[in-house]
Amino acid sequence: MDSAPGNDLNAIQTELSRLEAYRRRIYLGVLTLTIAIILLSWAFRENGDPFIAVAYPVFAVVLAGLCVALWRGATSLRIMEITLVATVSTMILSRLAWHFGFGDPLGDHLLLLAGGHYWAVGILIVGGFITLGYRGGLVTGVATFLFSGALATYEVLGCFLAAGEHCHNWVYLARIHLFLAVLLALTSAGTFLRERIWSAFTRAETLQHWANTDPLCGLANRRGADHFLSAEAALADRYQRPLTIILIDIDQFKGINDDHGHKVGDCVICELADILSNTVRGVDLAARWGGDEFLVATPGVDLRAARHAAERCRRAVEKSPIAGVSVTVTVGIAEYLPGKGTDDAINRADAMLYRAKAAGRNRVIAEACELA
Ligand code: GH3
Ligand code: MG
Repeated sequence: MDSAPGNDLNAIQTELSRLEAYRRRIYLGVLTLTIAIILLSWAFRENGDPFIAVAYPVFAVVLAGLCVALWRGATSLRIMEITLVATVSTMILSRLAWHFGFGDPLGDHLLLLAGGHYWAVGILIVGGFITLGYRGGLVTGVATFLFSGALATYEVLGCFLAAGEHCHNWVYLARIHLFLAVLLALTSAGTFLRERIWSAFTRAETLQHWANTDPLCGLANRRGADHFLSAEAALADRYQRPLTIILIDIDQFKGINDDHGHKVGDCVICELADILSNTVRGVDLAARWGGDEFLVATPGVDLRAARHAAERCRRAVEKSPIAGVSVTVTVGIAEYLPGKGTDDAINRADAMLYRAKAAGRNRVIAEACELA
């Protein structure tokens, strides 16, 4: 069922906050796992691996600090994400550099690299896209790939120049880097497409929102109201539940414009719209039907209950000035008749409004139960 545009915006805000909390929880989970891997590597390290002995506990403490900051929502999620990728990149790439700079000869540490560390490099490439999106992920991924490629090239060249024993292992390093290149290309293409589709989808949603929204007061416009009414009429037909149409028109609005100016007239429309949207329930519709006329539709509410609610609203408007001006409204109400279409109910509500205006304004008239 279509809902009013104002309600859509609130729902989107709530959904975005929920997703941000969800992302924080995902990062917390990934960080906790990474800390566990680091501690495991530290506990089962080979003798004589000073990098793991010294640097890994430091990494674990830094990551634990990031966990606490994430948990407490210490800073914006974007800054946390950049810090996270920068920290993890530093850890993974410094370990890779150490492998090539101070590790065993190529033949001896190739298995260690292929079986362990290049997995971390791959995860860094994919994780960069997931965390930072297309642009940030591309920068992180290309920098990681180039850095890793430069280290491997340096190692292989050094091996050939020194006429080392295991230089034929360059093939394995080349193959690993080809896989990393494929991973980078696939992940960047996937992220690019996903972001493009997402932005087209968002544009379509935005256009639809504005096509159904009154630009002055932010309530649904006539088009938005039509969507809502046809969906609700279908439900009323099917489940025989009441649907009441309330038309509200500002009294002598031309006079307000003439006496106080168009700007004040606009403010009256906006403030009245606020009063209506704060008065109706979440399942109701409050719309600007045109000019100084508003339409409220209340599914599941019968004529009598709608008349009492409209009367309370009329009294509230009468009691306190709106935008500094004394304002009254006249209201006409009719109930939807199953199978007759919403135009019929709107026309009957309009007839009640016309009758209430003729009877002296500032009153509510509901079809079949008139109230002076
Ligand atoms: P009645 O009590 O019979 O309704 O008298 P009225 O003066 O309110 O008459 P009517 O409803 O026909 O007048 C509507 C006026 O609302 C006419 C138009 O100038 C004014 N109006 C329509 N849209 C806007 C708007 O967006 N801003 C302002 N300031 N005025 C508007
Ligand atoms: Mg009017």
